[in-house]
Amino acid sequence: MHIFISDMTLQEKDKKHVWHPFTQHFTAKEHLEIVSAKGIYLTDVDGKQYIDANSSWWVNTHGHAHSHIGDAINQQFKTMDHIVFAGVTHPKAVELADRITNLLPEHLEKVFFSDNGSTATEIAMKMVIQFFYNRGEKKTKFLAMNGSYHGDTFGAMSVGQRGYFNKPFESVFFDVDYIHFPTSENEESILENTKSLFQSNEFAGMIIEPLVQGAAGMRMYSSEFLDKLTELAHSFGVKVIFDEVMTGFGRTGKLFATDFCENKPDIIALSKGLTAGVMALGLTVASNEIYEAFLSDDIGKALLHGHSFTANPIACAVACASLDLFEEEKTWENIENIVSWNASFAEELNELKNVENIRQQGTILAFEVKTGEGNSYFSDVKTKAYDFFLEKGILLRPLGNVIFINPPYCITKEEYLLICEAIKEFLKK
Ligand SMILES: *Cc1c(COP(=O)(O)O)cnc(C)c1O
Repeated sequence: MHIFISDMTLQEKDKKHVWHPFTQHFTAKEHLEIVSAKGIYLTDVDGKQYIDANSSWWVNTHGHAHSHIGDAINQQFKTMDHIVFAGVTHPKAVELADRITNLLPEHLEKVFFSDNGSTATEIAMKMVIQFFYNRGEKKTKFLAMNGSYHGDTFGAMSVGQRGYFNKPFESVFFDVDYIHFPTSENEESILENTKSLFQSNEFAGMIIEPLVQGAAGMRMYSSEFLDKLTELAHSFGVKVIFDEVMTGFGRTGKLFATDFCENKPDIIALSKGLTAGVMALGLTVASNEIYEAFLSDDIGKALLHGHSFTANPIACAVACASLDLFEEEKTWENIENIVSWNASFAEELNELKNVENIRQQGTILAFEVKTGEGNSYFSDVKTKAYDFFLEKGILLRPLGNVIFINPPYCITKEEYLLICEAIKEFLKK
């Protein structure tokens, strides 16, 4: 079936006017035409349904078109759709700030609003640099981890994995030192290396995806290692940013990855699941210590940053409604179910010869398909698997040769098993 926009099909109009993310339009195939979404299902123009196995780019938590979220949008729209946030406050922003800080470590008390994950991390880095600037200390350098992803704006790219995705911009990135990704063999040497880097006294901050590196292919490491790293940073006065944009809101099996750690960061960046994956919103939550360094008679010491849609009331209302759902026992039962299904499926996968590096953190299960050519984003597995799963009625986007499941929490066991069956069938081929 074809959808028409005036005289052209949707595909033709799309090709004429739309520039898609991460897409080489010269070689791109036709786009999937998704016209509706409900629960864990996406429906295309021909009425074919797809299980949303990766939660619509890792953002969806409670399923699509959840009535409680829908009610919050309608209610807030009727009450107040949008308002400038400089010189003005409004109930939903304050409610969200209050509720989120109650859920985060105690010392993280100040919430800055923006629109997405990239801005949330970008603002975190600006806070850290200005923290030292305001105190008259010359520290601007960041430490990051190999394979990290913190977004696609310049600051976020600067601290991300360098390479294919940001090559054209590399010459204008700021200076960052990287540590290796931890494995059981190299943890001690990474910590040694980190220590000697920090001894230079140049470092303002360290930014890290806690427990799971998403875009690098759902790579996982222990909270014990992260605790040591955070402790080390703090012992040198280096401010620690946890980028929980992907790990937040139940993904790791707890509300936040931070909840697994003894040592807490100075700033946490949130987005994606914050609004149940429905509205664009980012939060940067900072400690009082950071915030207080901005207090002065001098306006120049304020955080002079803001966005047109800062603290958009509808987005804030949706985030609050999503938190209501996290207060329901049912949500946590669902999460625990996925955690245990993932564990069983991991055992099954373990029996298969062409699978390696099976890993799980809560609701995320990932593994690599052995290709003999190493893991690369452009690995052939990606295209083959993507097409195979679409055919089976599952929308699942591998990262290179890494296949992973991170579904909306409302998925049932039967639906989850459909994904498992399809994966096993793919692996047999
Ligand atoms: C997705 C993601 C970002 C960027 O968020 P956007 O909303 O896409 O800008 C940053 N950090 C992590 C860990 C992410 O997974």
